[in-house]
Amino acid sequence: MRKSDYKKSRRKTPWDGSIDLNPTQAFLKENYDVRYNNHHRKVEESGEAEMVNSYIPAKCPFCGSEKFKKSGYTDSGVQRYKCICNKGFLPTTGTIFDEHKLSICEWMEYCLNLFRHVSITADSWNNKNAFNTSRYWLQKLFLTLEGVQDNIVLSGTVWLDETFYRVRSEDVEYNYDGSKLRGISKNQICIGVATDKNQTIFLGRV
Ligand SMILES: [Zn+2]
Repeated sequence: MRKSDYKKSRRKTPWDGSIDLNPTQAFLKENYDVRYNNHHRKVEESGEAEMVNSYIPAKCPFCGSEKFKKSGYTDSGVQRYKCICNKGFLPTTGTIFDEHKLSICEWMEYCLNLFRHVSITADSWNNKNAFNTSRYWLQKLFLTLEGVQDNIVLSGTVWLDETFYRVRSEDVEYNYDGSKLRGISKNQICIGVATDKNQTIFLGRV
């Protein structure tokens, strides 16, 4: 992929700006636009405010106090809260959905694709997002999951297994003579999984 393609929006069609479309072009453009807009609905149109509002914060994300009260709604219909520490917040404050511009449905679709091993490139085409957006979401997801396994302690009988994946083609290293590294090498990422059937941890190492 060329660098300039990374930011390329998937909104455009070859017929944008044309006023004299034939019936086939008009049909294709209209249907593409409907699908694009379905994937990029504004938060206030997606109906997610109701879902978000069903989560009542247990404490203020800034000071931890439980002394806060309702304080109106955002333009999107999301409940605002105001704490005695004088800070305002939403049910999504401090979560992965904080300040999100895209609907939670899109996030969900992205995660489902990821868990089914859909590549970032394929996902950006499917969800009609720029490649950089899909890559940014991946980094955001990893940051959210960082440390999530830190406190897991396996006990009793533990089952372990590992598998190897090749690194990206641009990261492949070669011997001085240009030949490929053989066997288990830096060109493979080892993914280990361990479980005691109660809890499971995943480890990845190059
Ligand atoms: Zn507070």
